[in-house]
Amino acid sequence: MKNVNIKKQLVEIGKKIADKGLVVGPGGNISARVGNIVYMKASGISFEEAKVSDYIGVDLKTGKIVDGSKKPTCEIAMHLGCYLERKDVSAVIHTHPPIATAVGMQEITLRPFTPDLAALAGDVPTIKYVVPGGRELAEEVRNVIKKHNAILMCNHGLLTVGSSLREAYYRTLLVEDACKTFVAAKSLGEMKFFTRKQVEQINNLKAESYRKALLKKA
Ligand SMILES: [Zn+2]
Repeated sequence: MKNVNIKKQLVEIGKKIADKGLVVGPGGNISARVGNIVYMKASGISFEEAKVSDYIGVDLKTGKIVDGSKKPTCEIAMHLGCYLERKDVSAVIHTHPPIATAVGMQEITLRPFTPDLAALAGDVPTIKYVVPGGRELAEEVRNVIKKHNAILMCNHGLLTVGSSLREAYYRTLLVEDACKTFVAAKSLGEMKFFTRKQVEQINNLKAESYRKALLKKA
């Protein structure tokens, strides 16, 4: 994929993230990898206002800027860690969705309870609160992202990864939606999670593998 195209995609997804209220103001950050270059939002710029020139390329291994002149997001280490840990990951989305953030404060692992959640996200664990923007947060995320595609961050927000921006974005929407359902179900009384067997049944469905393959396309 050409670099201009990936920056355009980042601008588009960033605007959707702002429109849907998944972050407010300059919060949150997104990135996408093309080969050994990771494109990410510059620091302090809101998704609403971000233009193509506000997305800059950094070298995956060194973190040095190779495309653009602005300062990268302060969560650069968190983004690069996801790509270094998972070769299959080409996009990382970090947002502050209100309901997912509320569920994150319960410090639970949100297990699948709908077919979509089972097929597209799987278990969503929570990492403990650490000060944003540093090595510690990057290490916490890197440890958990090894085995998961979405992470709730206690007192902070949500992080999802995907093999394309679309896939990471749908995972963000899906988890926030699931958290709304979780809160509603809890307030009514009963919460029913899938058993391991039920999750397996979903993952063996042909229709689900077809849908998953579609999302992987950029
Ligand atoms: Zn954040």
